[in-house]
Amino acid sequence: MTFLEKLECTRCDASYSPDQPHNLCRCGAPLFARYRLQEIKRRLKRDHILIRPPNMWRYREILPIAEEKDIISLGEGFTPLIPAQNLGQKLGLENLWIKDESMNPTGSFKARGMSAAISMAKKLGIKEVCLPSAGNAAGAAAAYSARAGMKTFVFMPKDTEFCFVSECKSFGAEVELVDGVITDCAARMLERKKGKNWFDLSTLKEPYRVEGKKTMGYELAEQSGWRLPDVIIYPTGGGTGIIGMWKAFDEMERLGWVQGKKPKLVCVQSEGCAPLVKAFEEAKDFAEEWKKPKTIASGIKVPKAIGDFLILKALRESHGAAIAVSEQEILNSVREIAQAEGIFPCPEGGAALAGLRKLIEENQVRRDDKIVLFNTGTGLKYVESLKKLLL
Ligand SMILES: *Cc1c(COP(=O)(O)O)cnc(C)c1O
Repeated sequence: MTFLEKLECTRCDASYSPDQPHNLCRCGAPLFARYRLQEIKRRLKRDHILIRPPNMWRYREILPIAEEKDIISLGEGFTPLIPAQNLGQKLGLENLWIKDESMNPTGSFKARGMSAAISMAKKLGIKEVCLPSAGNAAGAAAAYSARAGMKTFVFMPKDTEFCFVSECKSFGAEVELVDGVITDCAARMLERKKGKNWFDLSTLKEPYRVEGKKTMGYELAEQSGWRLPDVIIYPTGGGTGIIGMWKAFDEMERLGWVQGKKPKLVCVQSEGCAPLVKAFEEAKDFAEEWKKPKTIASGIKVPKAIGDFLILKALRESHGAAIAVSEQEILNSVREIAQAEGIFPCPEGGAALAGLRKLIEENQVRRDDKIVLFNTGTGLKYVESLKKLLL
């Protein structure tokens, strides 16, 4: 049985039935899945989770699909939370950890969101899906939809690392390379989508990817003995991770699984594309579109996020921060993580470390804070662009 109750608008008071496919609310804002948390609280003790298989579906009561047979899974989630002692020592921190999302199927945490979204899409009878992507979302969508027997149409910027293109094509997806950035890809997709039955999987325009992503928040709690860390440093693009984890912390509090102060959320972006940092600094509720975005960290090259107001709200409610880092700092940090800890991070993971350095310089963290850096994907998919810069 499912505890999923309804889809609720994040801005107005509309709600929708989860028995039909939905994208945005009629008011244009993203929808959130809401569960019967009181009932879950009565029936499920958090320690029941501990003996379940090590993937994100161990939290299935608080996910949109309850029945095993409907879940399209490749073993995503329950990635290791690795102590980063060497790096911690270099930085003068006593309690630094890396949540290593590179261990996911298709090499990034996009697998979590796509496992949830494709499972729901299949259950609702959808046959064809489409999305604009900087790379990792497309690869994950193509993989899960291949497994579900669905067809994927992907729109990626022309300068996307070739690895992502060949990955998608191997999974049988149709790929169109668009001259421009991800927002141009989205516009092109809307043109091509006319008259077709494609279901739009774009970030936050579909309500279940964020449900998959929120499991990162559940895992941080479970892997720390149901105590949340003090600070979470997260390379932010479309923001599903930040929004999802903030939702997870709220749900876990209502379930009585965690108590006390919630983590400070820190959003890190590149100086070449920092719309959220700018909006945070200017105390705005929405972010302006960033002109001419440029960064090697393609996953955070998002000039305009549809969930900007939700990201900014989560950052402020958590007493967090938003930090921009330079391309050189990103590259240096990729090397630093690799050499100190034996993890080859994606440039976005490098950005997280560069952001942490700034927090330390600005005295925004304490030596003994429990700090979690997110490495959101594997560096292996970026070797072509890294080749020019690192070797
Ligand atoms: C998509 C992506 C991000 C940004 O994630 P959001 O949760 O959408 O902000 C960061 N890093 C990598 C590697 C990504 O693929």
